[in-house]
Amino acid sequence: MTPLPLDIARIYLEPAVDAHTRGRDILARFPHAERIPVASHWRIPELRDADPGDYLAAKRQALVLGVKKGLTFRPNGRSADFIAPSSSNGCAMACAYCYVARRKGHANPITVFVNIDALAAATARHVARQGPKTVPNQVDPHAWVYDLGENGDLSVDAAVSDNVRDLVGLFRTLPTAKGSFATKWVNPDLLGYDPQNRTRIRMSLMPPDLARLLDVRTAPVADRIAAIPELHRASYEVHLNFSPVVLREGWEAEWGALFGELDDVLPAAVKDQLAAEIIMLTHNRDLHELNLAWHPKAEELLWRPDLQEEKLSESGAVNLRYRTGWKGQWLRRFRDLLAVRMPYCQVRYAF
Ligand code: SF4
Repeated sequence: MTPLPLDIARIYLEPAVDAHTRGRDILARFPHAERIPVASHWRIPELRDADPGDYLAAKRQALVLGVKKGLTFRPNGRSADFIAPSSSNGCAMACAYCYVARRKGHANPITVFVNIDALAAATARHVARQGPKTVPNQVDPHAWVYDLGENGDLSVDAAVSDNVRDLVGLFRTLPTAKGSFATKWVNPDLLGYDPQNRTRIRMSLMPPDLARLLDVRTAPVADRIAAIPELHRASYEVHLNFSPVVLREGWEAEWGALFGELDDVLPAAVKDQLAAEIIMLTHNRDLHELNLAWHPKAEELLWRPDLQEEKLSESGAVNLRYRTGWKGQWLRRFRDLLAVRMPYCQVRYAF
C-alpha cells in the first residue's frame, strides 16, 4: 500500500470542536499533535499565506477541525444530481491542477467537519423530500446521486475520522439515493464499510506518466486500477473519472494504453456496471503562477497557450481551456478511442 500522505503534528481547531463526539474522537486519534485554537477554519493565516515551499509540509502535518455551517444542497446534473454539504474540505494530496486549493489558500490541508450527525440528518431529510426518482438521467437511472466529496478526497479523509464510514452507512439506509465521490487514493479501510451498492466511487485515472508529474502525493495509477475490483467486490458501485484530460503530443497512444490495460484487468462484473465521466482540463492563471514556484514541470503540461484560450469565470478568474473547435474535436477522438478499447464503458457525461 502507498504510504499515507499524512503525519499529523498539529491540529487547528475551532472552539466548538470539543463539544462534538466526532471532534473528541479525532483529537483522541492524534494525542501527540499540538493543538492550536482558531476562530474559524477559513481564516488561518499561516496556512492561507504559506510560502509555496512549505505548502506540502503543511498538507502532511496539519489538520483543521471545524463545524460546517450552512448545510445547503446544490443541484448539479453532471457527476451527481446534488452536491451535498461537504464533510470536509482541503486535501493531503497536491494535484497540480487542483481547484480546491484556490478556494482556501494554497497550503490547504484537510479540514474535517465534526458535526457529521447534523450533516447526515440534513442529507436524509433532503433525500426524503425528493421522493423516488421517476425520470432516469445520465447520473443514474433510478437513484438520486449525492456528491459527497466535492472539496477533497474521501479515501484519505477516511484515515482521519469515521465521517466517511458514517456517510456510507447512511446511504445504505436510503433506497432512493446513492452517495458518490471521486478519489485518487486507495484506502483498504473502505472495504469494510458494507455500502451495499448505495455508494458510487469514481476512480480518477490518467496515464501513469502524466499522473507521476501531475497527481502529486496520490496513489500510483497501478494501485488505483488494482483497487477497482476489490472495491466492487466490497459492494461499491465503481465508475471511472477521466479528469482532467490533459493533452500533449502523443496523447492518443498513452490514453489508448490506459484503456487497453483497464480492458485487460477489469473483471466482467465491473465492466457490466461501468460508466465514466470525461472532463478536459481547465487551468487557471493564478494557479499557474503559484505552480511555477514549486512545480514548474507540471506547468509545461498544464499551461499551453498554444492549445488553450482564456475564459473569464463567473468570479472573474482567468481560466484557460482548450480552444473552441479543437476541444470538441479532441473530445470526440477521446470518446472514439474509449469506445473502441472499452465498448462496454458508458460515458455519463463529457465536456
Ligand atoms: S486528490 Fe482531488 S482534492 Fe486532492 S489535490 Fe488532487 S484533485 Fe485536489
